[in-house]
Amino acid sequence: MTAPNFTRTVLGVPRIGPRRELKRAIEGYWKGSVSRADLESTAAGLRRDEWARLVTAGLDSVPTNTFSYYDQILDTAELLGALPPRVAAIADPVDRYFAAARGNAEVTPLEMTKWFDTNYHYLVPEISDATSFSLHPEKVLGDLAEALAQGVPARPVVVGPITFLALSKAVDGAGDPLARIDELLPLYRDLLGRLAAQGAQWVQFDEPVLVSEAGLGLADTAAKVYGELAEVAERPAIAVATYFGSPGPSLAALAGTAVEAIAVDLVTDPSTVDLVAGTPALADKLLLAGVVDGRNVWRTDLEAALATLGTLTGSAALAVSTSCSLLHVPYTVSAETAPEPAGAEGVRAWLAFAEEKVAEVVVLSRALAEGRPVVAAEFGRSAAVRAARAADPRLHDDAVRGRLSDIRATGTGRAVAAERAVAQRERLGLPLLPTTTIGSYPQTGAIRVARADLRAGRIDEAEYVRRMQAEIADVVKLQEDLGIDVLVHGEPERNDMVQYFAERLDGFLATDNGWVQSYGTRCVRPPILFGDVRRAEPMTVSWITYAQTLTERPVKGMLTGPVTILAWSFVRDDQPLADSADQVALAIRDETVDLEQAGVKIIQVDEPALRELLPLRAADRPAYLDWATGSFRLSTSGVEDDTQIHTHLCYSEFGDVIGAIADLDADVTSIEAARSRMEILDDLNQAGFANQVGPGVYDIHSPRVPAQDEVEASLRAALEAVPAERLWVNPDCGLKTRGTEETVASLRNLVAAAKAVRASL
Ligand code: GLN
Ligand code: ZN
Repeated sequence: MTAPNFTRTVLGVPRIGPRRELKRAIEGYWKGSVSRADLESTAAGLRRDEWARLVTAGLDSVPTNTFSYYDQILDTAELLGALPPRVAAIADPVDRYFAAARGNAEVTPLEMTKWFDTNYHYLVPEISDATSFSLHPEKVLGDLAEALAQGVPARPVVVGPITFLALSKAVDGAGDPLARIDELLPLYRDLLGRLAAQGAQWVQFDEPVLVSEAGLGLADTAAKVYGELAEVAERPAIAVATYFGSPGPSLAALAGTAVEAIAVDLVTDPSTVDLVAGTPALADKLLLAGVVDGRNVWRTDLEAALATLGTLTGSAALAVSTSCSLLHVPYTVSAETAPEPAGAEGVRAWLAFAEEKVAEVVVLSRALAEGRPVVAAEFGRSAAVRAARAADPRLHDDAVRGRLSDIRATGTGRAVAAERAVAQRERLGLPLLPTTTIGSYPQTGAIRVARADLRAGRIDEAEYVRRMQAEIADVVKLQEDLGIDVLVHGEPERNDMVQYFAERLDGFLATDNGWVQSYGTRCVRPPILFGDVRRAEPMTVSWITYAQTLTERPVKGMLTGPVTILAWSFVRDDQPLADSADQVALAIRDETVDLEQAGVKIIQVDEPALRELLPLRAADRPAYLDWATGSFRLSTSGVEDDTQIHTHLCYSEFGDVIGAIADLDADVTSIEAARSRMEILDDLNQAGFANQVGPGVYDIHSPRVPAQDEVEASLRAALEAVPAERLWVNPDCGLKTRGTEETVASLRNLVAAAKAVRASL
């Protein structure tokens, strides 16, 4: 294939719209207030505007087919005719698509799971023996036609066959989906022909799975698949994109095929630069050199990036690119127009979101092609900003760093768990199988109104506090009436369990418009950790102590742990994540000590994201788990032995982190278990976990009310694995997404079940 090489591109772009237009259009369509025609024209407008921006910015190859109404993996399942029969039976294509994504009255949707180690979630294709693949390229070709008509140098992006199958799950007793790769190749060959016929010069196949642990065993598959696809006579030039880490052995495997280009992430794992330099077979390829970080929000060190590119010019022809798709960052820093928040003045100048990163790619590529002098001004500005950032006193708080090294030197200093349990039992006097909940209660209309009123200035802070206290009083009363043993305040004051703390800690910047797609129409605005973390004042004490004044029963303090706060934020790139984690941990530790001093006897520190940050390659995992559990223990070991520390974990299969759960050494761990049928308890036993545990006895993701005997059955199953002295009774997770009525009914059954089982012991 002779397609001209390009010199500057990005691997993908955000798609929700600069002002979340797509979210609003789709949700309107679901509600019936937006017509299908309007939805489609909003979508087409977003694509057109995005392409126009990329062309105007100077890219000479523009990714297309990165737009999606929900998810690119679902799009690929549709492309390959791999929707499960319950979905495929729906005749209307739009209804079918959204039914696969979110279900309807008759159809359960595809399962959703995390996209590698990002906060994006994709829909998991289901492959059974009955799946028979067929090509449906309307979306890819339609997108291409639109782009070409607009004069865009289009490069359709399609998820590659290896990643597609590796991320699929086998259902109905089928074997490993990857074993079916040969059935997909004719479809991809066909697709190549159709793209060529329609005028595509390039196509990008995304194969991020090659950087994962599973990818280590897939180099031969990569060689075979792309060797065969490259044999297609009439086809566009092929770029295979690897990202989120080093392609490892797959790089040489791909370089040995006749594909024209390979994209590598040179940010996540710096050793990839050497890997590229040591792969001679790249000499006749185009290398999409991902030197601009597609996942984080900092301006690129242009000087360092240019130096990296310089070391690679002998290895391959170069196109400057991003490390991965820009899907994972907000649209543009220029949308941040409100006055800068106190304490974070000047930080915006350090940032580059998608639009700014595109500009960096162009500057770097011009420096490479035309020489640094033509972009001297841009390099100068970049260097000045980097220097200002590096010298900023907010990045180095000696007090914080000094305290941390003191605490590290003296150790955490709590007694062993068994001794703590004795002290706590004496102090708390709880019954066997104590009942509790995970933290949040249903978000009532009154909470939403109060928040909106405060934001709009219709009420003052004091009135807001009064309204939140009224919510807390309701929740406390409800729990007393239900007979729950350990109460919570219900978290009405928290918009989000990470943002709430980020807004109260020095070193974090919140954005006004920094939205990123989490899944489908759900968008999040991750806080930006830019400096050393300091807690200026207590963050939760007044709410918890207020709740405690209303009841004789113990109220749990409720905090978010350091790993989760970092997992759901953009983080510093100028120090190891472990150091940032310890700084956050210190702030949480101070909060636990203040809570304890205010008379709070039980404190929960949530770490639902412990599994999320687990490195993709197994070799990197021990080091991560070591600092992650260390930072949790740092955050929870400032209290006395008779103060009980709880933690809460959810959202995952825990297989890879079972040992780490034991290492957290919380006195009580509540853990999602309803859907995994208590198997988690056997796993914990095997890992030597001997502390108290509250396996969730019902699934809070559904409005279904569990019957009392169902909960009893769960508890009896749990008692097979754990003695009553170590067992707690609680739901799977917080209740904020549930309605009040079903919550009350469910908790009533939970308490009754606990009492019944208790009586039978
Ligand atoms: N305490 C939080 C809540 O109940 C925990 C949420 C979570 O695990 N994601 O809402
Ligand atoms: Zn949870």
